[in-house]
Amino acid sequence: MLKKLTLCSLFFANILFGANEVNVYSQRHYDSDKALFKQFEEKTGIKVNLITAKAEELVSRLTIEGTNSPADILITADIGNLYEAKEKDLVQSVTSKTLEENIPKHLRDEDGKWFAITKRARLFVYNPKTVNPKDLGDYFSITKPEFKGKVITRSSTNSYNKSLLASIIAHSGEEKSLEFVKGLVNNFAREPKGADKDQIRAVASGEADIAIVNSYYLGVMANSGDKVDEEIAKEVKVFFPAQNTTGTHMNISGASITKFSPNKQNAIKLIEFLTSVEAQGKLAEGNYEYPVNPKVKPSGIVASWGEFKEDIIPLNEVGKQTKKAVEIATKGNWK
Ligand code: FE
Repeated sequence: MLKKLTLCSLFFANILFGANEVNVYSQRHYDSDKALFKQFEEKTGIKVNLITAKAEELVSRLTIEGTNSPADILITADIGNLYEAKEKDLVQSVTSKTLEENIPKHLRDEDGKWFAITKRARLFVYNPKTVNPKDLGDYFSITKPEFKGKVITRSSTNSYNKSLLASIIAHSGEEKSLEFVKGLVNNFAREPKGADKDQIRAVASGEADIAIVNSYYLGVMANSGDKVDEEIAKEVKVFFPAQNTTGTHMNISGASITKFSPNKQNAIKLIEFLTSVEAQGKLAEGNYEYPVNPKVKPSGIVASWGEFKEDIIPLNEVGKQTKKAVEIATKGNWK
């Protein structure tokens, strides 16, 4: 009887006050995130329901579901899709003192419609036996004739490369960006294929000498427990591009509160938690990303690559150029 009553009152409490849960649509599929969600549940009693899929799929799902969407939070691993969700009016403005304290201004949307939760540097990984780092510079440096047949990166349809090219457009304009694409394609060691880790492996095997990749993949490989990948991570070196100009392009993973979020307060609490000192430390140690909370240091191996100048261009300006980036990549024949 008592059990029945309790269940009954829970049922009505859920109807009256909403369930004590938060629904997350996330592009991120990392174990570090799952561990953090579990910790959040233990701390707050708020259940985290997670759906993971490609960012494009999550954005179209939000569009189709409209006011009936159960989603509270959209998490992407790239500014391009976050910007698109904002442009499509799928997310809402949030003000939170805690979020303002946890996240520097340039890593939050000025309208409170997205918040960065981690940063990743899009940098060069190179073979120190064949490349003199003195010959490297900004992103354009790898288009020089001396690097013909030596450069690789994944496809231009990948969101990390779209955002990198979008940032080059935002800084240097369309004409220069098309020159960059043509020069890059002209220097390719092979047609784009595979993901970022595959580019690093190809540099180690001698198939290419320089790759454009996201920073954390090297950290992940170095600590993977896979002997071959750990050896590869020791052989290659990291170069931070554009130190004398714009700074290295930084992409983000970020979170937005959806426009029709049924559990908005819980959603704010979860983003506050993800950007707290405690959670940021775990994201830095577990996935080798750069923390957004300035009170938290990157993990040992990431810190060992050294401090560097980050590109702090407002990320909405990068997001705005994403469509142009696709056009220019196609025009320059970057597959
Ligand atoms: Fe990734």
